Amino acid sequence: MTWSAVVSELYIGGEFRPAASGRSAPVHEKATGAQIGAYALGDGVDVDRAVAAARAAQPGWAALSAPERAAYLRRFGDRLQERYEDLVALSMRETGGVRAKAEDEVSTSIRQLAISAVQATENAGDILPPYKAGKLSLSRVVPLGVIGVITPWNYPMNLAMRMVAPGLAFGNTIVLKPSELTPMIGGQVLAEAADHAGLPPGVLNVVTGDGLEAGRALSEHRGLDLLDFTGGREAGLAIAASAATDLRAVRLELGGDNAFIVLDDADIELAASCAMIASLEFQGQTCISSSRHIVMRSVADRYLEAVTRRAEALRVGDPMAPGVDLGPLISEAQRDRVHRRIVEPSIAKGARLVTGGTYDGPFYRPTVLADVTPEMPAFTEEIFGPVIPVTVVDSEDEAVELANRHPMMMDSVFTADLMRGMSVAERLQAGEVHVNDAHARHGAENQMPGFTKRQWIGVQRTPLDLPAWARG
Ligand code: NAD
Repeated sequence: MTWSAVVSELYIGGEFRPAASGRSAPVHEKATGAQIGAYALGDGVDVDRAVAAARAAQPGWAALSAPERAAYLRRFGDRLQERYEDLVALSMRETGGVRAKAEDEVSTSIRQLAISAVQATENAGDILPPYKAGKLSLSRVVPLGVIGVITPWNYPMNLAMRMVAPGLAFGNTIVLKPSELTPMIGGQVLAEAADHAGLPPGVLNVVTGDGLEAGRALSEHRGLDLLDFTGGREAGLAIAASAATDLRAVRLELGGDNAFIVLDDADIELAASCAMIASLEFQGQTCISSSRHIVMRSVADRYLEAVTRRAEALRVGDPMAPGVDLGPLISEAQRDRVHRRIVEPSIAKGARLVTGGTYDGPFYRPTVLADVTPEMPAFTEEIFGPVIPVTVVDSEDEAVELANRHPMMMDSVFTADLMRGMSVAERLQAGEVHVNDAHARHGAENQMPGFTKRQWIGVQRTPLDLPAWARG
């Protein structure tokens, strides 16, 4: 098997093959619209085959020793590492992200494999406190069985890998369905690397296809022991409703409407630099993007000026061209969602467009909206685009109350007083809170905690360790 990344086929039971229906669809470069490949349009028939292959392979895979499985994972990572430059370029073309984003994605995926390989060999369970004197209580790590993994288009490789690598490490087998917008970097290249690494047939299977066909077939499959879904709320609701009918196990990683709070004693230049990362990195298309900036009145004008100055200096264009800070949105449909469902209706309700709000094809100018109130879509919706909506508040209590109105994954608080930052963080109902930092230290080492509380203090983040484009 040679590396392809041109026409992606399904990978089932260790074989690359077209979809059972024979259908395929084009893959486009997001900046230029050029066709860069094609992907097989898998459906329920292919999903059945992939789940059967994963089921057949699972006992043998689980029966290997942990060091043997770890060795396969390291080889899997080595095969990705050998293609690092190709994969970074493919990620840039297929997702529309700039080089730093693509490097982050590919290197995190490789590190995830290395970390999972180690974890598998060092933790087989725990010795528990005995419930009664004289008893010995043990817990043992056992595989779940066959795991279905459905992933989105924004960080397709590492969002797949965060379940694929630990899943494989602990003796599970996998059926992966990547997003139809990124089937190559999110699926095909992983299948090729696993194949080159010699993973036994059926241990990792990849079924490309559309959400309503391959995705739905996988999410409703009775042959899975767990369905791991990362994506939007709408599909998440459909999957949860279907799973509830016969209590199938699902794990849903959905979106968030994250808050970025600037208190009256904050270092405004630092906050504005971090805002570039928090709201504009990968054009704001991440689940941890800050989509509400809640700012105290006494610093609001200075904050608006500082974020606007930085946003206006950013260069938007084809990420393959030198000097580009922000690439295209993933699709024109996504651009329309940002513009027509968020920006325009918010302006119609009284928000003030400070900068941006215009586009050229899928390229959306970084946008700052002032006078945003809690009834506007710019406040109520997850934006998933390069927009900084600023809502002014009069007190810390009001900031916390407004922030907590929506589900949040990752918030930020800016203040000169660390203890004040910690106390606000304590009151935020977010999975993770950063004090004086943007969503920062994310990688394979500190995975997204979901909606559980965790706090980070970003004391290490100074304007100097931000990328140049964000510093302003
Ligand atoms: P999406 O829900 O449209 O698609 C995600 C995946 O689900 C794709 O593979 C798609 O083909 C599939 N799918 C779509 N409808 C389906 C259905 N009815 N049944 C089964 N599968 C279906 O999401 P997207 O547009 O690809 O990604 C953006 C969303 O993902 C945002 O809301 C973002 O916040 C969220 N996200 C969350 C995380 C996280 O870790 N929590 C990470 C990244 C993105």
